[in-house]
Amino acid sequence: MFDVIVLGKGPAGIQAAVYIKRANLNVLVIGKDGGALAKTDKVGNYYGFTQISGLELLEAGYAQAKALGIELIEEEVIGINYMGDFNVTTTTNQYIAKTVILATGSPRASVRIPNLKELEGRGVSYCAICDAFFYRKKIVGVLGHGDYAAQEAHELVNVAEQVIVFTNGLEPSGHFDERVKFVKTKVKKIIGTDRLQAVQLEDDSEVEVSGLFIALGSASATDLALKIGALVENNKIIVDEKQMTNVPGLFAAGDCTPGIMQIAKAVGDGCVAGLEAIAFVRKNP
Ligand SMILES: Cc1cc2nc3c(=O)[nH]c(=O)nc-3n(C[C@H](O)[C@H](O)[C@H](O)COP(=O)(O)OP(=O)(O)OC[C@H]3O[C@@H](n4cnc5c(N)ncnc54)[C@H](O)[C@@H]3O)c2cc1C
Repeated sequence: MFDVIVLGKGPAGIQAAVYIKRANLNVLVIGKDGGALAKTDKVGNYYGFTQISGLELLEAGYAQAKALGIELIEEEVIGINYMGDFNVTTTTNQYIAKTVILATGSPRASVRIPNLKELEGRGVSYCAICDAFFYRKKIVGVLGHGDYAAQEAHELVNVAEQVIVFTNGLEPSGHFDERVKFVKTKVKKIIGTDRLQAVQLEDDSEVEVSGLFIALGSASATDLALKIGALVENNKIIVDEKQMTNVPGLFAAGDCTPGIMQIAKAVGDGCVAGLEAIAFVRKNP
């Protein structure tokens, strides 16, 4: 059991972990890659550096974490839930903590498939664990191809009549339950007016489904937040002045929260989230 698990090893996550470790708490940082900084060529507006590359800044953060003895692991997080403590599921492991800080960066832009947005909440869902119950004995779809899609399909397969995984032109790469059916043709649009009725494919054929669960790529911060009942608005996680979400003990920091998307802001958020997570653990040992 960790005091705090930080999801994301970008500037927000590492900064939070630095404060937590220095307060002598037990912290685990989980990240799957270099995040936004790895895509940043030159940074010239961050305190203390006239110019530095994103990778150099990232490596400096990892080196600082390592020097402090922070446990930093490279795994993809696919789920989170709360049962007295926070349970974090990655593609290979499960971890438990008293508090969690979501710092997994900017949620990706939602996929552009005609009519998908219009049917959100009316058949189109982003959380199998939340909504599977509504699709008992029905035919449902999952849009995605990796381990995150496999996890969403896994939540549905014992409840629904049939789970169809729409890979949108890609080969399945996740560890899928053998009961799912795959449709590999690209998706053209979503059919339905008041409620979702079918998925139309590029060859104009239609596959009838009552529900469609979106699980493209890996789980974003907002996907994870929604799974645990945290408020999300305009694709960002809503936090208070302590960087805490509406779920006690669940914090969020950096690009996944509202406001400017800059390293300085991510580091500031990480500092606040780290200090407030420390206070939370000490108050709720
Ligand atoms: C091209 C580009 C140029 C930029 N230039 C500048 C600049 O000059 N100055 C500036 O201040 N800012 C710049 N930014 C913005 C800056 O990089 C971000 O604001 C900052 O990195 C945000 O930090 P973060 O910790 O919130 O998220 P990120 O740095 O994106 O880190 C997110 C972390 O979450 C992890 N993660 C995500 N999903 C999962 C999952 N499912 N499981 C496990 N881990 C996960 C990632 O692996 C990563 O470790 C730029 C961004 C880009 C893309």
